[in-house]
Amino acid sequence: MSEYRFIKWFEELSKKDVPLVGGKGANLGELTRAGIPVPPGFCVTAEAYKYFVENVRVEDGRTLQEWIMDIISKTNVDDSKQLQENTAKIREKIISLPMPEEIASEIEDAYKKLSQRFGKEAVYVAVRSSATAEDLPEASFAGQQETYLDVYGVEDVIDKVKKCWASLWTARATFYRAKQGFDHSKVYLSAVVQKMVNSEKSGVMFTANPVTNDRNEIMINASWGLGEAVVSGAVTPDEYIVEKGTWRIKEKFIAKKEVMVVRNPETGKGTVLVKVADYLGPEYVEKQVLTDDQIIEVAKMGARIEEHYGWPQDIEWAYDKDDGKLYIVQSRPITTLKEEKSEEGVEMTEEAEVILKGLGASPGIGAGRVVVIFDASEIDKVKEGDVLVTTMTNPDMVPAMKRASAIITDEGGRTSHAAIVSRELGIPAVVGTKEATKKLKTGDYVTVDGTRGVVYKGIVKSLVEKKKEEKAEGKVVVAGAPLVTATKVKVNVSMPEVAERAAATGADGVGLLRAEHMILSIGQHPVKFIKEGKEEELVEKLAEGIRTVAAAFYPRPVWYRTLDAPTNEFKEMPGGEDEPDERNPMLGWRGIRRSLDQPELLKAEFKAIKKVVEEGYDNIGVMLPLVANPDQIRRAKEIARSVGLEPHKDVEWGIMVEVPAAALIIEDLIEEGLDFVSFGTNDLTQYTLAIDRDNDRIAHLYDEKHPAVLKLIKYVIDIAKKYGVETSICGQAGSDPKMAKILVRLGIDSISANPDAVELIRKTVAQEEQKILLEAARKRLFEEDEL
Ligand code: PEP
Ligand code: MG
Repeated sequence: MSEYRFIKWFEELSKKDVPLVGGKGANLGELTRAGIPVPPGFCVTAEAYKYFVENVRVEDGRTLQEWIMDIISKTNVDDSKQLQENTAKIREKIISLPMPEEIASEIEDAYKKLSQRFGKEAVYVAVRSSATAEDLPEASFAGQQETYLDVYGVEDVIDKVKKCWASLWTARATFYRAKQGFDHSKVYLSAVVQKMVNSEKSGVMFTANPVTNDRNEIMINASWGLGEAVVSGAVTPDEYIVEKGTWRIKEKFIAKKEVMVVRNPETGKGTVLVKVADYLGPEYVEKQVLTDDQIIEVAKMGARIEEHYGWPQDIEWAYDKDDGKLYIVQSRPITTLKEEKSEEGVEMTEEAEVILKGLGASPGIGAGRVVVIFDASEIDKVKEGDVLVTTMTNPDMVPAMKRASAIITDEGGRTSHAAIVSRELGIPAVVGTKEATKKLKTGDYVTVDGTRGVVYKGIVKSLVEKKKEEKAEGKVVVAGAPLVTATKVKVNVSMPEVAERAAATGADGVGLLRAEHMILSIGQHPVKFIKEGKEEELVEKLAEGIRTVAAAFYPRPVWYRTLDAPTNEFKEMPGGEDEPDERNPMLGWRGIRRSLDQPELLKAEFKAIKKVVEEGYDNIGVMLPLVANPDQIRRAKEIARSVGLEPHKDVEWGIMVEVPAAALIIEDLIEEGLDFVSFGTNDLTQYTLAIDRDNDRIAHLYDEKHPAVLKLIKYVIDIAKKYGVETSICGQAGSDPKMAKILVRLGIDSISANPDAVELIRKTVAQEEQKILLEAARKRLFEEDEL
């Protein structure tokens, strides 16, 4: 029996305790019991929340629960303004009321005991919400998955527990509960309080060798400090290979570890990148991170976790400075180790019968069972290896997209969300089929050719086998040394999760880091989010994304483009109901013109960049979309300065050339002070040719190599050269080898391509550069002959 009424230690919990401590809490309990050393902690149970709302009274004497239910009964959830205001009132009330002494004293006692385990008065903890109504679809909880890191001291813990409770009443969660007929008075929330690992050394481990697929080997990566350095790719870690069962260390590679990530020593919050030589001493740079005994301890723990889950795992581990012990921070299945029998029981067909056509948006062949979904609440239906079919993807669907073997949509072009994300994930995709969700049913089997934009009935043997051969050949090619080109070849990134993969292409930097995905993935309209007082959370989320990319590419430059989400995309979001209806959103309120009208959002973006710059990342650039007037550059710079971000000093400053006007007055724009310009040919083409890029009826006329577009590009490159301003391209055309050749001849400084196209573009650029040299040499020879 527990010594407490409102608190349960992880050791006391198991997976059947979901009603009491939510899914997260119960899972941590289950792992602790299985002997897996997760960082210790406790849950403030759903009982505590219930006690709080039923016993604490508001000013007029009613209980908090009565007061909340009264407000909710008077709220029309379809009136978004009212819903926002009323739920905000409830959240404020929960946060402002004092924690009852009965609960507060238990939290205090448990927190002290937790700290004492580490011989301390107080320790840093993370406080997270853990929802209890297990049968509610995941989307009902989107936006209320609160996590507070670096919480320190009893008061702060109690405050964050209340904040987690308050997150039960976000507009979005309330809306979903109402729409799905759940009783608001029966949903409770637990809060998990868990020690933050103060890592002395940390890393990742694969319980099957991800390079050779050998399941008898465990591969461990290790470096100094917090795990972010390894996960983000900022440091090359040590690598050890251990044989399962005999626990023999088969291989050791001791890397030169120049940098490490540590908790910010000044504020105690957040993290900073420091030099290993300064922080630990020069002898640590080339020192073996784990002792041989520790290598074996980590490997054995990995094998145990694999056994627990029954599948090879990708595990984040750390040794805690406070008690010297090994902790497991995260474990997930290795998804790239596919079982050969993935199309189990499905006969392959010899014949290739086309059932759908669309645009090939992400190259490659994918095959599997179809799952049709219409919104993010259904993403759990998509299992590893399924083919995801939907009208149009949105950021909430990304977890399912990652599991899919291929993606098919009804709508969208080559620059739509589905196309951009699937290219980054390297998953074949066909978009704009118009009728995939009608023609295909869940349970059908199909083969998707993302290169040519065709979907075939059944699992087509010849195509699937061709893919296997290509994969095998692919390995040989990758082993070659990367080409060095005078024209830099960069990469476009929109999801920080794929930064590492993108960096592994060897690209010379990020020519376009799109903000849309990061901002839209907060799950709520960002302007409303700020209005609800959650600016800091938005800034943190953005900073996290920018930091991940900046670290993965450091010291290569990363150009962050400020938000450019048109009204029709914002409208799709919860809280987006008030977005204006525009006749043509492509010509409407988007890009820098919208950002200047809503400076609070632009400020949040600049604050996030400033935060990352202050951590030592001096490789970031800011790029403004859809600029057409010098005044827009000036005003954006003023906003940056107002939050302490100094253009040209803290960050490089540039614009996208996407509007013909910008190309035509490029000299005036450069006079405002620009380090670089980048052609957004997706927009530049649409605005030059007056062809809506999303309209597939006229898509055959959409041509980035149209002479008018090329003329604008040439003009800008010539002027930019005169002023010493760097030129680049980040539109989809940068991934087209024919366009790349033209641009090299026009003298562009860099080309930014999609991750899957970097290799091809690099080769194309190298070839074209050599051709130019050869032509020049031949010309000289010829001239000499003449003499
Ligand atoms: C472009 O317009 O070419 C571009 C890269 O921006 P987006 O596709 O996000 O509009
Ligand atoms: Mg654009």
